[in-house]
Amino acid sequence: MTKDPKILVGNGVVLTLGADNRVIHQGAVLIEGGKIAAIGDSAGLRRDHPDADWIDAGGKTILPGFICAHHHLYSTFACGLAPKPAANFVETLENLWWKLDRALDMNDVRLSALIPLVRCIRSGTTTIFDHHASPSAIRGSLDVIADAVLESGIRASLCYEITDRNGQQGTDDGIAESEAFLQRAAADTSGRLHGLVGLHAGMTISPETLDRCVDLAKRYDTGLHVHVAEDKADQVDSVAKYGMRVLERLYVAGGLGPKTLSVHNIHIDDAEMERLAETHTNAVHNPQSNMNNAVGAARVVDMAAKGIRVGLGTDGMTSDMKEEVRAGLWLRHHVAEDPRVGFMDMANMLVTANPAIATQFMGRKLGELSVGAAADVIVSDHIPFTPLDSNNVLGHLIFGVSASAVDTTIADGKILMRHKELQTLDWAAICQQAAKAAPQTWRRFAAID
Ligand SMILES: [Zn+2]
Repeated sequence: MTKDPKILVGNGVVLTLGADNRVIHQGAVLIEGGKIAAIGDSAGLRRDHPDADWIDAGGKTILPGFICAHHHLYSTFACGLAPKPAANFVETLENLWWKLDRALDMNDVRLSALIPLVRCIRSGTTTIFDHHASPSAIRGSLDVIADAVLESGIRASLCYEITDRNGQQGTDDGIAESEAFLQRAAADTSGRLHGLVGLHAGMTISPETLDRCVDLAKRYDTGLHVHVAEDKADQVDSVAKYGMRVLERLYVAGGLGPKTLSVHNIHIDDAEMERLAETHTNAVHNPQSNMNNAVGAARVVDMAAKGIRVGLGTDGMTSDMKEEVRAGLWLRHHVAEDPRVGFMDMANMLVTANPAIATQFMGRKLGELSVGAAADVIVSDHIPFTPLDSNNVLGHLIFGVSASAVDTTIADGKILMRHKELQTLDWAAICQQAAKAAPQTWRRFAAID
């Protein structure tokens, strides 16, 4: 087995983030064996490691790769599609997502994954938590996505979106696909794959299916990845059918806990927040999607105040966490009608909660630059042009790094993009293949009632 080459990323401003939260001007990061081996003075590290592959950051910012706590790679082919206008969230599902996912064949699943994976690399996102649906191509779909993830070089937690909306066979296939992938993830030696049990949402899951999902998660020592109260309709359905609100129902079924991702949580009440807090369930906020769907604004400041870990996802709207964190901050200001509200809450989702979730779930130190942590390192085009020290890192992150493109992306000690040149995936070839497949996919979409 060939030894991973040493890489030295230097001549930049290192933002370690994490507990250390150091800023090192004229700094460098040494990478060896997929991990961070040293962080310090650029000239000194270069002198001591002349054999390392030298990446000159040219005064730009060196920081950990970003993490997306909720993604939908399968949403790719929605770009440019014009579904029947939706008057509410349920119509958005019916007119767009539940038709698009049904139209996907296995080749579409692969291409739908590869395109956002390139975008992840280009925007410095090195870990994602994906939630996949392709009801016409269920069995084997997570293998296809996992292969694309491994080819890209990033890390992913994958799950299949189990739901009862496609009949008993659809439910059974979703559960079988989930179990097959959980077996693969358990045997994975790359350190870059993880599995969860995905559920669409309470409103499309029967009590029997919920019990099967919880049982599956427990058998594989993992958790659920589920949309929770994204719209009022989920609560109305839950109360009408089960006499319980959405999170109470998940709690009673044993579905909450530190290994579960509860996504959206827009229409939850204080008692449901208490359930998240007491069970140490992770919440995930997706501000751009929520604004786009006009479903409301999650009370993330209240959740954080109750001690709930709130991560940040994109819900498939983008692969760029820099864009998401900014949009989330504007939403906080707008909703509170107070520009003082939400800055630390939004920044913490990106630099504290997401790293904590990813580190816990993936079993590797992620989201910070520290010796021994996984070597997920990016170079941002942001050359600090105003004073920068450990006191104003987050200000530079939101208004500098997040307004800049990414120059270089490294994950697990492998260079995935070097000075804007992709190293693992061929963007033009993938787009050509997608452009060839998409017209047929859209015809199948149009043919679905
Ligand atoms: Zn989602």
